[in-house]
Amino acid sequence: MLKQILPGATLGVLGSGQLGRMFAIEARRLGYNVHVFSPDEKTPTGAVADREWSAAYDDFDALDQFAKSVDVVTLEFENVSTAALERLEKQVPVRPGPQVLEAAQNRLKEKRAMASFGLPTAPFAAINDLKQLKEKLTEFGGKGILKTASWGYDGKGQQTVNSEDDLATVWESYEGQETILEGFVDFARELSIIGIRDANGNFDCFDPILNVHANHILDVSLAGPELFSMNIIKRAKEIIRTIMESLNAVGVLCVELFQTGSDELVVNEIAPRPHNSGHLTIDAHYCCQFAQQVRAICNLPLGSTKLRQPAAMANLLGDVWSADGTPDWSQALSTPEIRLHLYGKDEAKPGRKMGHMTALSSSCQEAEEIVRSVRDSL
Ligand code: AMP
Repeated sequence: MLKQILPGATLGVLGSGQLGRMFAIEARRLGYNVHVFSPDEKTPTGAVADREWSAAYDDFDALDQFAKSVDVVTLEFENVSTAALERLEKQVPVRPGPQVLEAAQNRLKEKRAMASFGLPTAPFAAINDLKQLKEKLTEFGGKGILKTASWGYDGKGQQTVNSEDDLATVWESYEGQETILEGFVDFARELSIIGIRDANGNFDCFDPILNVHANHILDVSLAGPELFSMNIIKRAKEIIRTIMESLNAVGVLCVELFQTGSDELVVNEIAPRPHNSGHLTIDAHYCCQFAQQVRAICNLPLGSTKLRQPAAMANLLGDVWSADGTPDWSQALSTPEIRLHLYGKDEAKPGRKMGHMTALSSSCQEAEEIVRSVRDSL
């Protein structure tokens, strides 16, 4: 059994956005110190951390100093080089480790890893030239999504393509980048499942969460007992467990899944950290994904993943902010079912995640109606 890292110790987090912020809040609730490392200053995480380290992720001198100041390192952002993690790992436990990041950072490696674990994904192929793009698109039924293999998130660097499209122009805009073509999955619903695993191999997971996207960005997430059949819940749990155990992932990991019309689950992608769809666990579950991250990386007993109450979460993007500044929060604050979370970001840009709201109610349908109507009122 590995030793527990007890409250009073210092937890390091790579990445300084809202996920790090909510992690730091939970860590501090338990009496830990938090140091955050990222290239930025005055960040959402830095505002609630004990110390903010501002240096490039490949600044090894700064990483060495950071490693000396913390008892364990975790991350809230997967686009850190594995070399940086390997450097840190020589000095301090890094959870999850570089092998997990490596699989999650590159869509080709990720899909190949899933296939090697025996898990279903969309048909996929690495694309190196226009001829290959045309051939593979035909093989995948004439419709697919062309994605950059690395550094993509929230639909960035991806485009739906059809055989009739002007593929030469499409290909030109990707040329020079490592690209993957995925066959289009005609899914009925999108869901995610969040798992927690510690370095001793203890594992648990939340029930799956139903996700609705708008413009390739997560818009609304739902949690409730009425959402999924027992079979889907069981299958989703098998998938997350297989992935975390096969990758030897420690910490929190989210798997995004497609549910097909015939109730098959297909893995879309993995995120080796807490996930936007799990924000509702803060208000709706006994122990939220961020508190679970703290527990998992410190070898503390994992918390209960049980749902307290059906819930719906709606993201608040910068689009909600008008030219006059902050929205009027009166209705959000005076609706008893609503919990408002703001990330302390000063510059609101379209598409930028600025906060979220979670509504709790007796059913997720009711919770969804409340959260959508309060958001519409902003
Ligand atoms: P991703 O960045 O891979 O999570 O993709 C963003 C969104 O695009 C997903 O949540 C889906 O709605 C859609 N999408 C991605 N890949 C596929 C696919 N192979 N087939 C159908 N829709 C997809």
